[in-house]
Amino acid sequence: MELPSPATSHWDDDPDLGSVVVDEQGIRRRVRELADEVTEDYGDRPPLLVGVLKGAFVFMSDLARAVRLPVEVDMMAVASYGSAATTSGVVRILKDLDTDLTDRHVLVVEDIVDSGLTLSYLRRNLMARRPASLEVCALLVKDGRQRAPLDLRYVGFRIPGDFVVGYGLDIAERYRNVPDVRVYQGPVAVG
Ligand code: 5GP
Repeated sequence: MELPSPATSHWDDDPDLGSVVVDEQGIRRRVRELADEVTEDYGDRPPLLVGVLKGAFVFMSDLARAVRLPVEVDMMAVASYGSAATTSGVVRILKDLDTDLTDRHVLVVEDIVDSGLTLSYLRRNLMARRPASLEVCALLVKDGRQRAPLDLRYVGFRIPGDFVVGYGLDIAERYRNVPDVRVYQGPVAVG
């Protein structure tokens, strides 16, 4: 059995962090499996990976390096209107893609899907740019929280509804560098 890396166990002492939802080795193994599926499915049509910042930056980096195809990578940044804890589904594009999506095979790389509203908006927005295909790879999907079924081609893990941080996910910009995914149990800022 592999031991947790020092970078992981360091976070065990942080009182704001609770139980580990997905550990480092589990993430590593699953990312490899997802990358193998992507490699097999796309074959001679290498996709354009579209990462949704900031949360997806860690997952994107690991996934892109594990896919054995000459993929291209682009990023967009979005913010949802409304409070931090709930999504309204109205999304503002803070940074758009540099790439023209026309006739491209697009694979959206998402960190986490909760209600699915952000993703529904993104999908509509990107489909309007006439890609040859558009699929979604989400590392984490919160179980039973989506009102409408989402067409997710690749899913890393289905997890319970707790608010989680780590592996790119933050609370007020902190904890993105935690190497695994943990429940956040600290104070919630009001604002
Ligand atoms: P949705 O529109 O699916 O409800 O929300 C998606 C967005 O909300 C994600 O892209 C992410 O930014 C944020 N989010 C949802 N659940 C969590 C969570 O447990 N932890 C963190 N850090 N962000 C979350």
